[in-house]
Amino acid sequence: MFAEAARKYNFETGIYRPPSEGGSYSLLIRVSRNCPWNRCTFCSMYKQEKFSLRTPDEVKGDIDAIAAICKGLKTISRELGLGGEINRDVAIAMIERDPVLNTSQGFIMIYNWLISGAKTAFLQDANSLIIKTDQLVEILKHLRKTFPTLNRVTSYARSKTLAQKKIEELKAINRAGLDRLHVGLETGDDILLKKIKKGVTSEGHIKGGKKAVEAGFQLSEYWMPGLGGRKMWKAHAKNTARVLNEINPHYIRSRPFFPSPGTPLFEEHQAGEFQPLSPREQMIELKAMVEELDFTARVCFDHAGNHWSGKNGGYLFSQSYEGYKFPEQKPEVLQLIEEGIKVQKNMNSSPDFRVLL
Ligand code: SF4
Repeated sequence: MFAEAARKYNFETGIYRPPSEGGSYSLLIRVSRNCPWNRCTFCSMYKQEKFSLRTPDEVKGDIDAIAAICKGLKTISRELGLGGEINRDVAIAMIERDPVLNTSQGFIMIYNWLISGAKTAFLQDANSLIIKTDQLVEILKHLRKTFPTLNRVTSYARSKTLAQKKIEELKAINRAGLDRLHVGLETGDDILLKKIKKGVTSEGHIKGGKKAVEAGFQLSEYWMPGLGGRKMWKAHAKNTARVLNEINPHYIRSRPFFPSPGTPLFEEHQAGEFQPLSPREQMIELKAMVEELDFTARVCFDHAGNHWSGKNGGYLFSQSYEGYKFPEQKPEVLQLIEEGIKVQKNMNSSPDFRVLL
């Protein structure tokens, strides 16, 4: 009985997803494992893990296992007279019936997803677009058919992969139900892109990003304030703004650089070869970049790494996943940056990366 339940409810999840998918309690569907590139010198994710693809049958099997858990929860809810509503009592009753679920991280994820309305899903891991188009379409169709309440399905993607895919293929993937892509731009500066081994040029970023938008995806581009350190901050700010203006994505999301243990950039930092920006210098770099932005995206600081304080001691920027609407709110963001420059001036001038570890 225990073994049968274990088999029936068995599915795989990965570790990482963007914070905006955590905030909306997305259902996590693992379509590949780890990162097929895995060389970026600032990145500590997936480092010890090997990339592998999963077959459509494996992924569809996971979707069916999740559907079986949802069905089990709904049945118990009805038995308890709750008419299909899911709450803690229902989850506990299901665990008592199938104790194998007691140690399942996936069960908690499904529970949170259901009680938050079962609206969004995220395809893991680092670059789902690397999957053959017909296979990804097959997976997406199965996912959408199995869970019709979904109103948004998102995934990570690499610019390089987007640039290489045919536009018809991207459109087919979008039509099959993948709505939003999260892309790690990091910087638009070619020298810095090469240094961090991003595996793409600024031109590749622009081509991939524009194709994603043309194919109908909502596009989130992530950039990394401070990535160039004291040596390269100006070119980093200017070229990142240039590339983002060209792409004109729907969202840009700030992920300030910090040296992550176990990465080549951490080693560089430890050896004194990388001079990080102080919080005030980070603000000045941010000002240089934001001043150049001339697009219609939403600018988001939706991560604790955006640690700068405002005059009242709280976070300087809103951490909303919808961020600030440009160009309308550009003056507001620039004003906040001025406030941040003044506040950080009165603080310790060296960056304290410990708060981020
Ligand atoms: S592509 Fe993304 S996940 Fe892969 S190494 Fe680079 S930053 Fe890390």
